[in-house]
Formats: sequence, C-alpha cells, structure tokens
Amino acid sequence: MENLTKEHLGFEIGPIRPPSEADSLLLRVTRNCPWNKCKFCGLYKGKNFSIRPKEHVLKDIDLVKQCIDTFKEMIEVDLSERQTMIKQLRDNLGQNADYAYNSAINWYRTGMESVFLQDGNSMIIKPDDMIDILTYIRKQFPQVNRITSYGRGKNIARISDEDLKRMADAGLNRIHIGMETADNKVLELINKGVDKQTQIEAGQKVKRAGIELSEYFMPGIGGNEYSRQNALETADALNQINPDFIRIRTTVVTDNAPLKEDYVKGIFTRPNDEKMVEELLLMIENLEGITSTIKSDHIVNLITEVEGKLPRDKEKMISALRWFLSLDEEERIIFKVGRRTALMSLMADLYDPFKRTRVERIIETNNITKENVDGIVDEAMNRFI
Ligand code: SF4
Repeated sequence: MENLTKEHLGFEIGPIRPPSEADSLLLRVTRNCPWNKCKFCGLYKGKNFSIRPKEHVLKDIDLVKQCIDTFKEMIEVDLSERQTMIKQLRDNLGQNADYAYNSAINWYRTGMESVFLQDGNSMIIKPDDMIDILTYIRKQFPQVNRITSYGRGKNIARISDEDLKRMADAGLNRIHIGMETADNKVLELINKGVDKQTQIEAGQKVKRAGIELSEYFMPGIGGNEYSRQNALETADALNQINPDFIRIRTTVVTDNAPLKEDYVKGIFTRPNDEKMVEELLLMIENLEGITSTIKSDHIVNLITEVEGKLPRDKEKMISALRWFLSLDEEERIIFKVGRRTALMSLMADLYDPFKRTRVERIIETNNITKENVDGIVDEAMNRFI
C-alpha cells in the first residue's frame, strides 16, 4: 500500500472533491481508493491505491506557499517585474508546475479559507502522519478555517477516540463519509464492505471527536426491490448519528461502474425519478430528533429545493417532493427532461414559458414519451458524472 518512491514527482491533484469543496485547496495525501470495490463507483477502477510519503505532501504545501508568497509580493511591483517573478516562480515549481501554480492561484482568488485532503479515503494514513500534515498546513496557512477529508466508515470505526480527537485538535474539522445506505442487505449488494452498525459507530465517533460530519445518502441504490428499506434503515442510522450534513446523491449507473453490468442484465433495476422521489420522501419523513442540515448539492438530484435545516425545514422539503409527485404525467416528463438537459434547475422553472418551450421542443424533436423517458433520463444522467 505504501508508495516507496523517494523522489517527489511534483505537485499532485486527484480526480474529485465534494462540490462543497469547490473553493478549497486540493492536497493529495493518498492516491485512489484503498477499498475500490463499491459496485456503483467506477472512479478509481483499475487504479492502484498508494499513500504518498508525508514528506511529499509537505513539499506540495511548500510549493503552494511559495506561489502565494509570490502573488502577495507581486502587488508591490510593476508589470515587467511581475512577469519576471512569475517566470522564476514557474521555473522553481519543478514537475507539474501548472498543477501547483493553477491550484495556488485559484485558492488565492477564493480567499484561501479551506483545504481538502484527497483522494477517496485519506483517513487510512497513520494518525501521527495526518497530525503532522494538518499541523504543517496550519503553520504555513494560519488563515485556513477548515480542513476536510473523505473517510470510509469501516476505517474510521477503527481509529481510536484519542487519535481522532488529536486530529481534530490539529485542525481536521470536517469528514465526508459515503454512507450511501444503512440497509445491510443493500450494503452487501453494492459491496460497500461495511454494515449498518459500523456506519453508526463511525459517524458517532467523528461527532464525539468534535469534527463536523457529512453523511451521503443515495436514493435508488437499493433498486426498486429494496427502495423502502433503503429509506427506512438509512433514516434510522442517521437518527442515531445526527450528522451535521446529510448530502443527497441520487443513484446514477455510470458506464465504468460494475453496477452497469447488473443493470444491463436486469439484476439491478434503477428506480425512475418518481420512485426515487418517493424514497427520498420516505427517508426524510422518518428523520426524527436530529438537527442535521440536508444538502442537495449535486446536479444528479432532481429537486434542488430539498435543502434545509432539521427540524425547522422538514415540512418545506417534504412539500417540494410532494409537489413533484402531484404533477400530472405530462408535467413530470417536462420537468424531468428540463432538469436532465440542465435547462431547468428549480421547481419554478416548470412555469417559465421560455424554458418550458425549449424543453417541449426537445421532447418533440426526440420523440420522448412516457414509455421511453426513464431510459433517456438514465442516459442523460450518465453524462453528468
Ligand atoms: S469507498 Fe468511495 S471511492 Fe472507494 S470504491 Fe467505494 S465509493 Fe468509490
């Protein structure tokens, strides 16, 4: 698992970050995913996991610091001197100079407030190494107010409370866990490699350490067959964890995910939008006694208005879901196609004559009917990922 390469091969960036980390500096601590077996996830398939040596990560931090210091100094000098400084800076950044330079300039532009530790599960590294990295980020960039990582529930459940607290004290203040579902049967079917009880223990552990927690829920991941228990079991687990954020990620069957094979063979039947809205509705209706904020911060979700703080906004979110289910079939088709073509983003867009006409034209031109709309929606969603 360890990357034994001694040489630092330049600044690195992994493939993804949560949408909420759009303004964060992406710092690659590990490469790819140590589990890499979830059926719905094709992100790291065929790629080996490795842990970057701590010194390489610290070197990346230094490269960004070098860029930021130069940007600050440039304010004081004239144009020709600035050009010389940029050239010198780029020469000094070594391999992957563009990655370091572009990362730094984007981060500088957005206020340098947060850092996201990539890739799929950086919580797997030795706690002492994590603490050294966190401490160094805080030392080099004292203005940073949030450092975040993805973490796998199974892994986090194994970290001692003491080590997690030490990481929190060193500045790790948010962890994203892809729970996806808490139903044991569905967890087994999607090969998540973790059970409901372990998911609950991991979430509670993060909260105990004083670290903010985002849990992800995937409506539809149990297929049509396990839709109801996917909703109910996940709600039950979330009620026991009370995460700071519950993030909705509607199931998409991507071409590079092993789930695609089950989908093609008919073993996995992806619920249509109506069914997934019903599932999400059931899940939210069953959230009780928690104060989480629900976020619908991904383009794959049908109704972006399903956002709010519990318990205050529960009825508002339920109403948004019921609104869709109350539409007649023709209206639902227009909204589904409008969302999946990105011509509509809000419920109100269904009543916007300009947007409606454009969507109706697409429906007509492509012969979209109630019989074929769900297949076309599936294809369109695949393009979003
Ligand atoms: S743990 Fe996360 S990154 Fe790894 S395979 Fe599963 S979903 Fe993908």
